Amino acid sequence: MSRQRIVMKFGGTSVADTDRIKAVALRVKRETDAGHEVAVVVSAMAGVTNQLVAWTRAVATLHDAREYDAVVATGEQVTSGLLAIALQELGVPARSWFGWQIPVETDDAHGKARIRNIPTAELSRRMADGQVAVVAGFQGLGPDNRVTTLGRGGSDTSAVALAAALKADRCDIFTDVDGVYTTDPRIVAKARKLDKITYEEMLEMASLGAKVLQIRSVEMAMKHHVRLQVLSSFEDKPGTLVVDEDEIVEHEVVSGITYSRDEAKITLQRVPDRPGVAAAIFGPLADASINVDMIVQNVSEGGGTTDLTFTVTKGDLDRAMKVLGDRRGELNYKALVPDANVVKVSVIGMGMRSHAGVAQRMFKALSEKGINIQVISTSEIKVSVLIAEEYAELAVRSLHTAYGLDAA
Ligand code: ADP
Ligand code: ASP
Ligand code: MG
Repeated sequence: MSRQRIVMKFGGTSVADTDRIKAVALRVKRETDAGHEVAVVVSAMAGVTNQLVAWTRAVATLHDAREYDAVVATGEQVTSGLLAIALQELGVPARSWFGWQIPVETDDAHGKARIRNIPTAELSRRMADGQVAVVAGFQGLGPDNRVTTLGRGGSDTSAVALAAALKADRCDIFTDVDGVYTTDPRIVAKARKLDKITYEEMLEMASLGAKVLQIRSVEMAMKHHVRLQVLSSFEDKPGTLVVDEDEIVEHEVVSGITYSRDEAKITLQRVPDRPGVAAAIFGPLADASINVDMIVQNVSEGGGTTDLTFTVTKGDLDRAMKVLGDRRGELNYKALVPDANVVKVSVIGMGMRSHAGVAQRMFKALSEKGINIQVISTSEIKVSVLIAEEYAELAVRSLHTAYGLDAA
């Protein structure tokens, strides 16, 4: 095979200890032995980022996001240095690169920064000389000349952005499962591995809770046509290829099921039912940078008032309650009721565009299990419902069976 340029990304469990890091070095060496140019992107060792985040919160619950980044970016720095050492031990030329050294240029949204540009001249030159670039994932350099991080799971995005910038032939995401499954294989034993999934479906799955790839990494792969693959760092077998729609001949009606526990519901009871009410509620939330996801408004029953329910992330619940609580006089609702005990379950599939009855099958399967649906939302290729959190696993399993996705 001709010489290729490859970006390989290894997640937290894949670099969880020094033995795993040595195993990763051997895996990388296979590619350099084959004559390929390689850049590796690493995550922090499993659990390390959680610990770092916990420390920042223990010192102060509300803190300077720039210092949060200074702390949480360190996990990746350790693994990039260790992997460079492990490669050198195997006789493979390698060096570590922190975000600021390349630099991975981002905006200044500390804690959730977006990559703007990655200059690659120096990396390319060294890679062409046979040196492996071991890049600390998840981190960048802001316009304020400070370290930034890309949001949880952000090393995936570092890898895809680097692959796009380097015009790599492939971007391989090595993780602790051997590909993208019809649903989280840790919850549903009968989940099936997909050989291929479209960018669109993968994007919906990532957005709706499947954390196997960070959402932005999929967006970026789609935009820049990066050949993206998810595969196991523990086993040597084919993974899942993320592809354009026309590379899949026959679409399943439903290709995946996801759940997200990061949801909270707020109900405003008996708000006056008149023009401008929704704007008065959602305007201040938007001003406070609180994203609202699902919304339902009940039909008013003659009394001139209505109930309005919507969802936000769990992390935004307290702030959203405060924003609306402060405006009680103006909004004139009877009660403001929070509920963090909810989960969003979604079914996703390109085939939905041409098949009727997909949502109905979902509602029927849930009703057969006695699961009450609180809120529904749909788009062209997905249907989501909000249900009580204790039913999450039962719902995902039942839907997996109902749509015929169970592995034989
Ligand atoms: P890494 O540390 O390698 O980035 P993550 O924990 O971020 O790994 O992502 C891999 C995990 O994603 C798996 O262990 C699995 O539990 C979870 N996951 C959720 N949904 C899916 C899915 N549909 N297919 C595969 N994995 C999934
Ligand atoms: N270490 C970071 C996290 O745990 C980034 C990543 O693993 O992708 O979120
Ligand atoms: Mg991840």
